[in-house]
Amino acid sequence: MKGICVLGSTGSIGVNTLDVVSRHPDSYRVVALTANNNVDLLFEQCKAHRPAYAVLLDEKKSGIFRERIKSAGLSTEVLCGVAALEEVASLPEVDSVMAAIVGGAGLLPTLAAAKAGKNVLLANKEALVMSGALFMSEVAKSGAVLLPIDSEHNAIFQCMPANYHAGRNAPEVRRILLTASGGPFLNKELNDLHDVTPDQACAHPNWVMGRKISVDSATMMNKGLEVIEACLLFNLPPEQLHVVVHPQSVIHSMVDYVDGTVLAQMGNPDMRIPIAHALAWPGRFDSGAEPLDLFAVRQLNFMAPDFKRFPNLRLAYEAVRMGGLMPAVLNAANEIAVASFLEERIRFTSIPDIIEHCMQNIPLRPAESIEAVLEADRESRSVAQAYIAKRHSH
Ligand code: NAD
Ligand code: MG
Repeated sequence: MKGICVLGSTGSIGVNTLDVVSRHPDSYRVVALTANNNVDLLFEQCKAHRPAYAVLLDEKKSGIFRERIKSAGLSTEVLCGVAALEEVASLPEVDSVMAAIVGGAGLLPTLAAAKAGKNVLLANKEALVMSGALFMSEVAKSGAVLLPIDSEHNAIFQCMPANYHAGRNAPEVRRILLTASGGPFLNKELNDLHDVTPDQACAHPNWVMGRKISVDSATMMNKGLEVIEACLLFNLPPEQLHVVVHPQSVIHSMVDYVDGTVLAQMGNPDMRIPIAHALAWPGRFDSGAEPLDLFAVRQLNFMAPDFKRFPNLRLAYEAVRMGGLMPAVLNAANEIAVASFLEERIRFTSIPDIIEHCMQNIPLRPAESIEAVLEADRESRSVAQAYIAKRHSH
């Protein structure tokens, strides 16, 4: 019986994680759940899973929430604030931490789980992109087990050599083929991208996800962040990472070996598959996903990515090649640009311009410490905000 802490339990990944966990009451017990401010869903989750702790980031709502928990006769202890996220991620009774907070806000709690030597089920790609080698070295130091949840990285992990552990070098791997659906605007008239709305950008053809990652999929920054994520998880330079556009999202990525063997992992586009893989690792158990029907799929198509249509993909490759704190700068600028687009303050097509502005105006610095990462994150956010206020608001 393993104890699990779900950081970001009210999000798309969090909900899918609890769905899988509830299918395996003999394998997992929920120790802690955390949410930003969705008190109603967090309350329902506490009733269903009876965690020892629930963390609500929003301090104002935590008093009322605590009362609600008490009147329902639940013994869940309600905590609040950022420090509580780190605390529950490192509790001794927690074996596995699902890191499913969105964005840079997830960095410190995810890092706390890594430092505490947990099984870290990593969905929060922004945390890894920001902190890069620093994060990987904490994992190596503590002996934490890093299990990728991002469907592509989970697929790659499954196709890696036997007994592979994230972060190790695998010289028998020639390259990694990272598949991408291309998102909702793969074939849209380029001139029409100017006017797309947040709802159009969030209407992903194959996956249902939170709004931030949905916009990232539409700009292909999601694939850019995933390139950086893959370089770190699989210890490869960006030259060995190739993005392959595959609109059906049936192959979730591939590993190309030196002997010419290419291993692919396939399945329906259902996040419960990688989640169940990581929860059951090194074994397997039911995820609840439908079996793959290849006769319904019929065709698998592949094409090269279009760096002109998706400038964010080029920027992400540039950031990882530059190294140092540039991936953190890229990520923070993107978070601000995406939030501004979702608030309808800027156009979809302004997103890459804002990121490029930050990358060009913030000097490249080495990633010496987590404090330096957090400082680069703050700086890039404020440069992006100022640029939006000056150039892009409409
Ligand atoms: P989401 O927006 O649906 O959920 C985000 C969760 O984080 C919520 O529980 C929310 O309460 C919490 N949260 C948000 N801001 C917070 C803050 N400041 N402090 C503490 N908690 C906060 O997002 P999602 O789609 O579930 O994605 C979560 C992460 O997983 C992202 O990093 C995303 O890139 C990654 N991911 C998601 C999918 C997917 O299918 N949804 C696939 C691959 C990777
Ligand atoms: Mg992905």
